[in-house]
Amino acid sequence: MKIEMIAFDADDTLWHGEVHYRDALEDFKKILSTWGEPQTIDETLYEIEMKNLPLYGYGVKAFTLSMLEAAVKISESNVSGKEVADILSLGRSMLETEIVLYPHVKETLEVLAGSFPLMVITKGDLLDQTGKLSRSGLERYFPLVEVVNEKTPQSYQSVFEKYNIDQNSILMVGNSLRSDVVPILALGGKSVHIQADTTWEHETVPGFDTSQEGYYSIEHIGLLPDLIKKIQQYEV
Ligand SMILES: [Mg+2]
Repeated sequence: MKIEMIAFDADDTLWHGEVHYRDALEDFKKILSTWGEPQTIDETLYEIEMKNLPLYGYGVKAFTLSMLEAAVKISESNVSGKEVADILSLGRSMLETEIVLYPHVKETLEVLAGSFPLMVITKGDLLDQTGKLSRSGLERYFPLVEVVNEKTPQSYQSVFEKYNIDQNSILMVGNSLRSDVVPILALGGKSVHIQADTTWEHETVPGFDTSQEGYYSIEHIGLLPDLIKKIQQYEV
């Protein structure tokens, strides 16, 4: 089926995202260095993040709460007020950090926006995600923006139904196999995976079958217009 709409993931597809979590994690380990070993801190935080996901969802605020919970656990409730304040300011600075676009993003959107309606589908905190989009300078390319709690076939389906978009005519572009590729292929759409420099462990899919219909992969977003041309040649 012909591509009628191109949807983009935002974090680590249009701009850098995971690197801020990695940097914050390093600072968090320094703040807690009197209470635990780096590896224990890593593991404890990840465990707490996974436990909290269904209640807190994704994003910096959820991450900050999980850091605080991990600090209490690792320090056996002895974490100081100063350390708590440092953790809070870590989270705050993540929310205010400068948006750094991946190379080729602007030119690619400029080219594609001339031929397709473009949409952003991202997950996480509404205020943070829409704020990043407006700070990125990319807002004008995306007439449709959706922030969802979780990227599943059901949540994508509701988005497509809301705008009366045929799910088979969607091309989704993103860095996460788990969130941007697998659910879209399950709905019969097409998906282009772009490997980011850093990907959160939670977003990987070990043993993913790359021979599936509708799956494409490119090294960077600048290669997208040519790939779309090729895909369109075989579609009627
Ligand atoms: Mg992403």
